[in-house]
Amino acid sequence: MQIEKVETALYRIQRQPGLSNSSSQIESTSLLLARVIAADGQEGIGWTYSHGDSGRGMKEAIDTLLAPRLVGEDPRYIERLWDKLWHSIFPNITMAGLTAVVLAPLDIALWDLAGKRAGRPLFRLLGGYRDRVPAYGSGLDLAYSTEELLDEVENFIGQDYWGVKIKIGRERLAEDMERLRAVRQAIGPHTPLMVDANQRWSVGEAITRARAMEEFNLFWLEEPILAEDHAGYARLSRTVNVALAAGEGEHQAEQFLDLFQRGAVQFVQADACRVGGVTPWMRIARLADAYHLPMAPHLVEELSVHLCCGASNGFLVEHLPTLNLNNTGFILNPVLPRQGVFTPLEDPGHGVQFDFAALEPFRLA
Ligand SMILES: [Mg+2]
Repeated sequence: MQIEKVETALYRIQRQPGLSNSSSQIESTSLLLARVIAADGQEGIGWTYSHGDSGRGMKEAIDTLLAPRLVGEDPRYIERLWDKLWHSIFPNITMAGLTAVVLAPLDIALWDLAGKRAGRPLFRLLGGYRDRVPAYGSGLDLAYSTEELLDEVENFIGQDYWGVKIKIGRERLAEDMERLRAVRQAIGPHTPLMVDANQRWSVGEAITRARAMEEFNLFWLEEPILAEDHAGYARLSRTVNVALAAGEGEHQAEQFLDLFQRGAVQFVQADACRVGGVTPWMRIARLADAYHLPMAPHLVEELSVHLCCGASNGFLVEHLPTLNLNNTGFILNPVLPRQGVFTPLEDPGHGVQFDFAALEPFRLA
């Protein structure tokens, strides 16, 4: 069996109202879909994304560098093909981020194809560890007024979400404290409360702020400092009295391994698209498992549900309504949390059905 064709399409999805955090304002997403078509006509579909209008580079890299190397290959050798593609283009691009992000749609499509051929859903192909995974409510924008923040928090809690995560990192610590105090009061002492600082602070400022926030009994503090400052995360882990979550800004298994070896992170947030698809995500999950670290992936909930149900250490899936695909209307069969729990589709492959007609007006290339 051979791969006959790879087709790609790039879309720009406007985000209304968008999302603001301490380091960026997100108003649109580039969505790239890839179809990997086998000689017998069966196909798998995969996708990747980037925030803002950086999609044309992704499409160019896939069409000119990756697709020609995939055509003619046997689609059943998924891991080998991932390694082949990585090692064939990384030395040219020499950017781990772009290389990983453009590999994701092809790898996801190959797993989808494998699931369809086997007649089995992706999470069962990956190991089938569980058939449900808790969801936490996320987004809770930094620009929100305290009233808006409380409205959304109460909406999540009213639907029995496992917990909530709010954006922090306002200019003055006192502002963050006031918002956290209001949220903690609204959700009560026992609901898990996470905070995300989106890489805003220095190590010193993170220490000061984390100490002040101890009174809120946070479940985790996410990305307090620059993602690449692994030494800083290690220092924070030894210093602050709160668990650290990170990984959405990492792209290679080796980067995760470095974090694990340093004892620098307690919750692992590998993003399936940013690490290059299902294959590397599962490698990272297994590395994390050896360090007894749970996986709480960043975004991509439509796929993260399968990954967290397939991996032994799948822990928690993020539901971020303003930034995910499930709430855009471009997926015909969105899997949304019910009573705060995600249940993966039992359709063969990942089961995600894109509404190509609805997407067409937003196609860029
Ligand atoms: Mg984050």
